[in-house]
Formats: sequence, C-alpha cells, structure tokens
Amino acid sequence: MNTEEKLTILARAAKYDVSCSSSGSTRSNKKGTLGSTHKSGICHSWTEDGRCVSLLKILLTNYCIYDCLYCENGASNDIKRASFTPDEIASLTEKFYRRNYIEGLFLSSAIMKNEDHTMELLTTVVKKLREEYAFNGYIHMKAIPGADQRLIKEAGSHVDRLSINIELPTKRSLQLLAPEKNSKHIISSMKTVSQKIIERTKEKKKFKKAPSFVPAGQSTQLIVGASADSDHDILRLSENLYQNMGLKRVYYSAFIPVTNKHQNILPAVNNPPYLREHRLYQADWLLRFYRFTSKELFSDTGKNLSLDLDPKAHFALNNFHLFPVEINKASKTLLLRVPGIGPKSTKKIIMARKHASLGFDDLKRMGIVLKRARYFITCRGKYFGGVPFKKDIIKNRLIAGPEYKQLSLWESGIT
Ligand code: SF4
Repeated sequence: MNTEEKLTILARAAKYDVSCSSSGSTRSNKKGTLGSTHKSGICHSWTEDGRCVSLLKILLTNYCIYDCLYCENGASNDIKRASFTPDEIASLTEKFYRRNYIEGLFLSSAIMKNEDHTMELLTTVVKKLREEYAFNGYIHMKAIPGADQRLIKEAGSHVDRLSINIELPTKRSLQLLAPEKNSKHIISSMKTVSQKIIERTKEKKKFKKAPSFVPAGQSTQLIVGASADSDHDILRLSENLYQNMGLKRVYYSAFIPVTNKHQNILPAVNNPPYLREHRLYQADWLLRFYRFTSKELFSDTGKNLSLDLDPKAHFALNNFHLFPVEINKASKTLLLRVPGIGPKSTKKIIMARKHASLGFDDLKRMGIVLKRARYFITCRGKYFGGVPFKKDIIKNRLIAGPEYKQLSLWESGIT
C-alpha cells in the first residue's frame, strides 16, 4: 500500500478524534492565488497562546485489538486497515510542513498488539520529529491509557498537548460499550500527566530553562449520546477534571453510528446529537470562564440541558427569583449570571460604577450587548425589558425573539 492510500485511510479514521475543527477541502496553490489546502486530514487547533494552527491529523494505525461498540476501528468491523511506521509519519509531517500545508501534527492511534507497543511507536514519532528533524511545530498527541507511565512521561516531554480519552462518562457505560477499556487505567494515566505538569511548572518557576512538559495542557474527549448518561453526568465529570486534574479542555463529540451492529445496545440515532453537543460546549464554557458549578446548570428535576435555550438563559429562568439584578449593586457572581453579560462586560460595569451610577444608555455607550440582558437587569431601579417581568413571557422572547433569528445573506437591503 502506498503512502497516499495509507494517508487516506488513516486520516479518515482520525475524523472522530475531536480537538480541532476539520477542514476537508482540496485546493492546490495556483499562480495568482494565495494559500492551498490538502485533502488528507488537515485540521485546525489552538496553541497555548491562542493561535490557530493547521495540523496534519492522522492515526498511526487503525488496526485495533479492542472492539468498542461505537467505534469504526473496532476489531470486528470489516474496514480497510493500514499502519504507518514512525519514520513515515515523521517524514510526512516534515514534507507537509515544508510545503506550508500544516503547522503541526495531531497524532492518535488505535491499539495495535498492546498498549505499551502502541505508545512506544507514538513516542518514537514525536521523539524523532523533535530530535532528528528538529521539528519545532505544534504537536498534539493522544496517549494510550494504561501504557507504561515512563512512555507517557517521555511523550509528554516532546509534545505540546497530550490527551487521554475518557470516551464515556460513567464506569457503567464504559463496561457496556468499551468493555476492554479500564476506567482505573484511564484515570491513573491522566493523573500521571497532570502531576508531571504541576511538577514541571514548579521547576520552570525556579529555573527558566527547565524542560517543558505538555505546555499546552492536557485534554480529553467524551462521546455524547452513545449511552444513557445525562448531561449532568457529563458536566459533573468535566467539572471534576477541570478542578482536580487541571485539564485544559474537555471535548464533546456527538455520537455518530458507524455500523448496524449492536442495535440492541446502542441508541437508534437518525441525526447525530449536534445541538446537544453544542449545548455541552456552552455549559462547559460557563464552568471554565463564568465560575458556574455543574449543579447550578440543572433544575432539581432535569438532568439534561435545554435544547431550546442556551444554558445561561435556562439557568436565569430556573432561578427567576434572583432577577432582575440592579446593575449598580449586583455582585460580580450575579452579573456573570445575567444572560448576555460576559466576563469582559462584567469587568467594565464594575469599573465604571465605581465612578458613577450607571443608566441603560451608559451601558449601551460602554458597548454592553443588551439584547438579552435587558430582560434580567434594572438600571437605577428602572426595568428596560419592554415586556412584563414574567417568566413565561421572557422565555418566549428568548426562544422566539429576534435575537435568535438566523441572519440571511440575501435579505433586502443587501446587494
Ligand atoms: S480502542 Fe480506540 S480505536 Fe480501538 S476500538 Fe476502541 S475507540 Fe476504537
């Protein structure tokens, strides 16, 4: 099998690994045009300092000894299989980089022979790239849970980001859908990485030249909708990972059925739950940047996020007694809970109200987006919602209001 065939198979096999937004277009660089794209597995991700980089996204192999029910690469599936050698991946990365197709590598793998063997090959790739090819670009690698800690630590000293996929949020679901995976192995591998990150961060504070370890942090991936686990189960786990393991990101991936097998165990899915995935990302954002707790995001009875409303609006309606908040007095925590007001606007409001009492027009002048916030605030005691302050009325405005209308490129007035 030639390299291009392998690339086609192994780039396609990597598409379910989330950590970036894939681009699938093919345009070569032509005279008079600027830039090019390449068909096989080029995706984008974000570096530690927030830059967007294009990555070659591939699996080392899709031969797998495991047979996870939700995965196309599972041992019992009849699919085309291929493997790269570490040399092939290192050389491909270098060539793609030199042609300006990519700025880095996203490397994952199925489990070939056993965990240690696969991890050793993955580690060889990144070591080769750094040491033999002097490759200084971004590398995001998926580590194999349960592999020898020594290998995981070695890989971590060469890559920018390391991920260990949890896949399913509860032990029960893991046993049902991925029986060969071991939740203890997953957690202990994650702990190894997070402890090493803490250790190296401390060393770097003392000695600037201390070698870095996974400088862009650790991440993981959870599949949404393959099991009966609720959004509450998923977000409680994410919260725990952010708080106790110092994770940089949890990625959510809508379950896409890949075979007709296991129909008695896997849910029937006509359309992958992309909206649910989107709501989880919104809620995750609230956990990370708005200091929400997972508990706050759910009512006493509901265990799933609303699909009609974003999680912050849902929170506000569930906790209607907290609103409207007086913009000149509300605490930072409460301001952050007003739909439409984010950390930057909160900061602006807190700074400005030190000097003067703020009115509605002042907020507008400060650039605060009030389309949704106006239903939940008062300024100098006055309410500017424009509708009675009643939960059902505001809920309808939020669901059906012009704020949620998809703009059309072809509306009259645009020529
Ligand atoms: S171990 Fe990974 S690649 Fe193998 S079947 Fe499970 S999810 Fe798929």
